[in-house]
Amino acid sequence: MQAAIFGAILLAASGAQAALPPNRATAAIPPRPARLQLPRIEGPKRSDLPLVVIDAGHGGHDPGSSSSDDSEREKTIALAIAKAIRDELVESGRVRVALTRSDDRFLILAERREIARALHADLFISVHCDSAPTPAARGASIYTLSETSSDRVAAALATRENKADVINGVDLSSASNDVSSILIDLAQRETMNTSSAFAARLQRELAPLIGLKPTFHKFAGLMVLKAPDVPSVLLETGYISNDDDLALLTSSSYRHKIALGVRRAIEAHFARQLVEKTRDREEMP
Ligand code: ZN
Repeated sequence: MQAAIFGAILLAASGAQAALPPNRATAAIPPRPARLQLPRIEGPKRSDLPLVVIDAGHGGHDPGSSSSDDSEREKTIALAIAKAIRDELVESGRVRVALTRSDDRFLILAERREIARALHADLFISVHCDSAPTPAARGASIYTLSETSSDRVAAALATRENKADVINGVDLSSASNDVSSILIDLAQRETMNTSSAFAARLQRELAPLIGLKPTFHKFAGLMVLKAPDVPSVLLETGYISNDDDLALLTSSSYRHKIALGVRRAIEAHFARQLVEKTRDREEMP
C-alpha cells in the first residue's frame, strides 16, 4: 500500500514540478546504487502477501561493535538474530521475507535500504547490537527516522551507524532528484508514522519476552532508515558491551524470543493494515 501511495505522489509530483519555485523542485530521493544484487524472497510464493526485509547490520570489513573481551562481533550476532527472525517469519506463513545479507559480506547502508525499495518491501527491519562505554547499559531499543535525533546518544548512534557510507567515500544521501521535495516529504511523513506505529507494536510484543531499555523508542537520522516509501525500523537487540546481555544475545533460546516478538508484532501490524484497507475501500463512494 505504501508503494502505491508513493507512486501516486510521484505521478502527481512530475506534473506539479513546473509550478514549484526552483529551489523546492530538487529533492531528497536518495539514488539507487549502480549494481544492486537482490536477495532471494523466502516464504509462500504469493505476491499478495506482505514482504518483510530483514537487514543484519554491518558485515565483511565492518564488524560493528565488539564485546568487552573482544571475542564477539556485532556483525555475527546480528546475522544470527536476523536469520532467527527469518526462520520464524517463514514458519508463520503470513508474510514473505528476504535478508539483505545471509553471509559475512559488506553492504553499504544505501544498498540495504535500496534492496527493500527495489523489492517493494512493506517493512524493513535492520538488526543491530548496541554498545556503550558504561558496561552496565543493558536492554533492547528501537530507532525510527527523524530529521532531528531525540537525544545526544541517538545522535552519536546516527554518526556511528552512518559511518559505513562515509568510509565508502560517497555521500549517497545528498544527491538531488527532479521530484518535488514537498511531495517527497509528504510520503516520508506517512512512512515515518507507519514506522512509529510498528515500533510501538514491537515494544508491546517484545516487553514480555526480552529486556527493554526504559526509553525503548527513539528517533535518529539513520541513513539505513531513509527509504521514503518503506516503513523502516532499526532494532538494537541488546548491549554487546554488557556481559549479561552478550550471554543472552549469543544464546539461541534468547534469539528465538526476539524472533517470536518480532513475528507477533509483524502479524498484528499487517492484520491491522488489512482492516484499515478494507475500511477505506468501504468508505469510498
Ligand atoms: Zn550496529
